[in-house]
Amino acid sequence: MAITALTFDLDDTLWNNRPVLERAETGHYQWLSDALAAASPDTARTFMTDYPLSAYQQYRLDVAQRFPLKRGDFTWIRERALFEMVEAYGLSRLRARLWAAHAIAHFLDLRHDLTPYPEVVAMLDTLRRGYRIAAITNGNADLKRLDLAEHFSVMIAAGELHAPKPDPRAFLAALARLDAQPAQGLHIGDSWREDVLPAQRLGMQVAWIDAKHEGPCELLPGVHRLTHVRELPTLLARLAG
Ligand SMILES: [Mg+2]
Repeated sequence: MAITALTFDLDDTLWNNRPVLERAETGHYQWLSDALAAASPDTARTFMTDYPLSAYQQYRLDVAQRFPLKRGDFTWIRERALFEMVEAYGLSRLRARLWAAHAIAHFLDLRHDLTPYPEVVAMLDTLRRGYRIAAITNGNADLKRLDLAEHFSVMIAAGELHAPKPDPRAFLAALARLDAQPAQGLHIGDSWREDVLPAQRLGMQVAWIDAKHEGPCELLPGVHRLTHVRELPTLLARLAG
């Protein structure tokens, strides 16, 4: 069957996400600590001395355990952890909620301060003339904030739907909305566990972006190994035969 639908993972597929997340992780936390200190200049304590970044990371694991239905919604988990920590630091419940919301807004600003790989925009612009295109992400990247939304007719934030990849439901929802059978779909993603395996099991073809050269050498049927998303048009031309 000819490929008519493409589903894209976002983080580490269309841009290098690690430096983005590192900047966002430390940036919003430092911002919160500084802002809390500025709001009570008479105290010598700082939020980050009481709760270093490692404590925040541990707190998020704990929140994820206590709220298992929210396990894929990383933004919610962050905000909940910050709220509980700021309240434990001594602020009222209401003020803790407001500070957590401010910090998350700051996190999301930093998280969207990224540049896709240079080939991406032109590639999507060409591809959308021949294929229906969806995005499926477990993360919290908002394509509208990245000026990429016009290239995608479907966007699925799988984590916020409580069915993060590798749960197949996000793939099935995307295919249904693209009006495609699994055999007409090609998924493009970097994670062997969250992208390759679930899509391949549904009967989709997969372009696996193995940028880190870490995967098994023996590929499954229908899985095509690329080292960069810029190689996708060549693969599609080959598959179209
Ligand atoms: Mg990814």
